[in-house]
Amino acid sequence: TIKNIFDQTVQKFPIKEAIYDVRRNIRYTYIQWNEQVNRLAAALQAEGVRKGDRVSTYLYNNEELATAFFACAKIGAIFNPINFRLMPEELAFILNDAAPKVVLFERELETNVAAVEKRFPETAFWYIDEDVPGYAKGYRQKLARISSKPDEVEVHEDDIYAIMYTSGTTGRPKGVIHLHKDMVKQAEILIEAMKYERSDIGLITAPMFHCAELHCSFLPRVQVGAANVILHQFHPKKVMELIESEGVTKFFAAPTMWNMLIQEKLEEYKFQSLKLGLYGAAPMAPSLVRACQEKLGIQFIQAYGMTEMGPAITLLLEEDQIRKAGSAGKACSDHEIIIARPNDEGPSDPEDMLEPGETGEILVKGPCIMQGYFQKDRETEKALYKGWYHSGDIGFLDEDGYLWVKDRVDDMIISGGENIYPREVEDTLYEHQGVLDCAVLGQPDDQWGETVTAFIVAKDPMLAESDLETWCKNSNSLANYKRPRRYIFCDELPRNASGKIQKFLLRKQLEENVDGKGL
Ligand code: AMP
Ligand code: MG
Repeated sequence: TIKNIFDQTVQKFPIKEAIYDVRRNIRYTYIQWNEQVNRLAAALQAEGVRKGDRVSTYLYNNEELATAFFACAKIGAIFNPINFRLMPEELAFILNDAAPKVVLFERELETNVAAVEKRFPETAFWYIDEDVPGYAKGYRQKLARISSKPDEVEVHEDDIYAIMYTSGTTGRPKGVIHLHKDMVKQAEILIEAMKYERSDIGLITAPMFHCAELHCSFLPRVQVGAANVILHQFHPKKVMELIESEGVTKFFAAPTMWNMLIQEKLEEYKFQSLKLGLYGAAPMAPSLVRACQEKLGIQFIQAYGMTEMGPAITLLLEEDQIRKAGSAGKACSDHEIIIARPNDEGPSDPEDMLEPGETGEILVKGPCIMQGYFQKDRETEKALYKGWYHSGDIGFLDEDGYLWVKDRVDDMIISGGENIYPREVEDTLYEHQGVLDCAVLGQPDDQWGETVTAFIVAKDPMLAESDLETWCKNSNSLANYKRPRRYIFCDELPRNASGKIQKFLLRKQLEENVDGKGL
């Protein structure tokens, strides 16, 4: 269980540095952190939290979120980390669904909480006050009053550890249920791949409410007794400063964050301590991976997956970064992947399997896959149809068993009857020196059904549409029908907290501005 992972590390490495919360300037060794975890666990019990009750966090990355994660695990409470970017109604939707006993929230998000709090009379809302030293109010005051340890609770590997809500780029968010043993397995997989050791110093800069950071970095590092430097939100300069001052060795960042990092004046920083980077959560163009390798002088590992998968289901290891550039790698140990023929009428049938090289829906099976969606039996049955998790991603397996992820089923463009995967076009555009960021999607078209439109954030202000047209024509990797018919230059692309482009927002823009004015 996650409880055991924590207890064992505290016992083995009591005086090793465990966490450093940069904004609060709090540093704990494992034994000190354990005291804090025990205090919060006891405070939650004093509030009436019992095994199986939900505890939500609505927090930036910080010591309290890290503490809540293990405090819940200790007392068998179900951990429910909520995206701090959510607005009041989105927050209320999750609180209504998860019905937590306690919500720990960021003081800076107080107005969002105040807008919905009264609708949840059964829930205790504790705010985290960061400015008041000496544990004066709210959460800290509650913890300061606690003098005893939490009551022992028996926690089993088959107990639910967390409910995590999907980012909901399509439809309403659903609560993904994971068990203790699922995440212990996920942590083991990442420890092996990332070669995490006690001497590692990890940096947390991607959001901790998302499983990529929580399960692929934070938890495995705690398991081996490594240190975690916690930055409340991603900030490229701050990341470079912390790598230098703390001697960070390994960390995870979404592709867009890596891209921002290498735009910094790297010559102003020392980053020799850095050994290995993890990327994933969204596609990363091979040219961007190469640029990061060169500029930072480090190796990379890619993880592909989804919240429902734990999240990592495949890994592309260091040695394959060049040989298999663009692939998502091989299935993690004890996991299986098949490609099934997509079915318009319902979930694709795992028995209708496709051959290597053929593109279809990615289906997966294995110990880290979710148990289902919280209180949503119908959706669960569909998602786990015939025992395989249906990802909604399209891709293929090559002859060597490597997975190539093409895109989301919903993002595929059909132009003149031909399927176009936006990612192929995006990868080609990214290779152009003048392109900082891009997103490709289909624009409704009377003649072709859809045509390809590219949103471009230019690095070079002189970049013109004609440059990109020539680039795509000469690329040798894009058939004529895949080339963008329209380029829209913009300052920034809308992304969610885990770095995924919110294409539904761009699509809305396109629909509302058919003539292109106002874009
Ligand atoms: P989430 O549940 O928020 O982690 O979102 C999962 C989605 O992110 C997947 O369905 C993929 O479409 C995308 N994704 C995650 N990792 C990768 C990756 N390495 N390459 C391409 N897409 C990815
Ligand atoms: Mg499982």
